[in-house]
Amino acid sequence: MSTTNFNNKYMNKCIYCSSISTVFFIKVNSWNIRKCLNCSVLYTEGEGKKDKKINLDTYDYSYIKGYKHRKNELQKRFLSLLNHIEKNKNGGRLLDIGCGLGLFMETAMKKSSYNWDVHGLEINKRLLDNAFNDIKKRIKSGNIENIPFGSNYFDCVTCFDVLEHSKSLKHNLDEISRVLKKDGILVIQSPNYKSLMAMISKEKWSWWSPPDHIFHFSSSFMINLLKAKWYEVLEAFTYEPPKEFLLDVKRRFARNLVQKIVIRLIQPLLLTIERIAWFFNRGGLLFIVVKKI
Ligand SMILES: [Zn+2]
Repeated sequence: MSTTNFNNKYMNKCIYCSSISTVFFIKVNSWNIRKCLNCSVLYTEGEGKKDKKINLDTYDYSYIKGYKHRKNELQKRFLSLLNHIEKNKNGGRLLDIGCGLGLFMETAMKKSSYNWDVHGLEINKRLLDNAFNDIKKRIKSGNIENIPFGSNYFDCVTCFDVLEHSKSLKHNLDEISRVLKKDGILVIQSPNYKSLMAMISKEKWSWWSPPDHIFHFSSSFMINLLKAKWYEVLEAFTYEPPKEFLLDVKRRFARNLVQKIVIRLIQPLLLTIERIAWFFNRGGLLFIVVKKI
């Protein structure tokens, strides 16, 4: 093997398990996404080049304004996820990692019939500064690399749309395990690259988001990963908000007025197809609740 080939191969080693058995999977906006043949994870090649400004650019003031504007809609979504969590844990000390403006924390604290002592962790100072007033003092500035809490402290840790941004997934999962009590539950939501929309849209799927998203998961990968880390799976399903599914369909297929009208007319059919996709774990988001054993 020539030095160049060796270097290329070395550069392409899996960023989760370090195997050099990796293959090109798809190119999205000039970023190569590779698949590891050993552990089967997908990752964005060259993630080390990730510009730290991306976080600030993505979550700018218009994002914050838009998010606050959609508060009621988003809160309904969080409430339905909270119901799934509460099937497995009836209150306790909760940490929301990557809590953003703190809406999930606020929902758990104010809308639940159980008693949740909520805490949040947010790396982005702009989001932290603009967090909802009642919740701001419960959010710590920090990141998942070094969770600023003691060991065996939380009954529940939630990671909504967080782990795909992770640079060192193994270490991050160990950190979560450290702060979680035995029998505590971990809740993960991430984009599902095996979703119907991802398969149809290919490189145009809106949740690839490289280089912001470093890892790309499927439900089965995440379940196997968590089982190997001594977690028991309590609940796992895929879904996506119908509004976002339809938006993705329009983005992909509505190139002219006629196509827009057709999509509008067949909307009920599209939403039925979406539901069927969920049944086969092809929803856009994976949602997993596991217990530390
Ligand atoms: Zn791997």
